[in-house]
Amino acid sequence: MPGVRLQYLDALGIDTWMPRRAQVFPAALPSAPGAAMGEDWQSLQDEVAGCVKCALAATRTRTVFGVGNPNADWLVIGEAPGAEEDRQGEPFVGAAGKLLDAMLHAIGLSRAENVFIANMLKCRPPGNRDPKPEEVASCLPYLMRQIGAIKPKLILAVGRIAAQNLLATDAPLAKLRGRVHRFGPLSTALIVTYHPAYLLRSPAEKRKAWEDLKFARDYFKNTFAPGS
Ligand code: URA
Repeated sequence: MPGVRLQYLDALGIDTWMPRRAQVFPAALPSAPGAAMGEDWQSLQDEVAGCVKCALAATRTRTVFGVGNPNADWLVIGEAPGAEEDRQGEPFVGAAGKLLDAMLHAIGLSRAENVFIANMLKCRPPGNRDPKPEEVASCLPYLMRQIGAIKPKLILAVGRIAAQNLLATDAPLAKLRGRVHRFGPLSTALIVTYHPAYLLRSPAEKRKAWEDLKFARDYFKNTFAPGS
């Protein structure tokens, strides 16, 4: 196992005897992010950048469209930008983002290659409060258009806010883990796990998050890359 992976697993609090052979999924397609989507992807980005559909437009520094490979097979969906994301315009760049990267690397994924990362909301709620239902409702069409363009094979919903809103349920996250849900018009597979910010506050739960990641990795491999 490469040393760097040991570090990622260590960040996750995972004993290194668990994943003997980490699975590395090939990068989806393209050389240039957005290349396959042409103008639509760019105009969607432009629309988001100029959005004033809800009150968050008045308090944001930048919109946070998403990051990664727009042709990826995996789409990670979080909650909303925090302070650092609002400053930089990129999702998951703070402490939680470092842990998210470690989680993804532990199953052979990286934001630079084979995953796209977005949020339920493109703008930061002041003080990092939970998104309001009307904010989610205003922003969801952008996410749906992103999903329609990316056509991911698997959505990983990280945290309660993403999971409950995407699945239109009040069920606690613990009840939503460990199975494959279906989402949207393409019936995309959706798997739920804990939010990395929650894991930073509750490190004892990292073990469960690792179970979720292995579940997602194995589901993906068995469904989309059998025999690889
Ligand atoms: N938490 C999220 O859900 N998304 C981010 O982009 C950053 C923190």
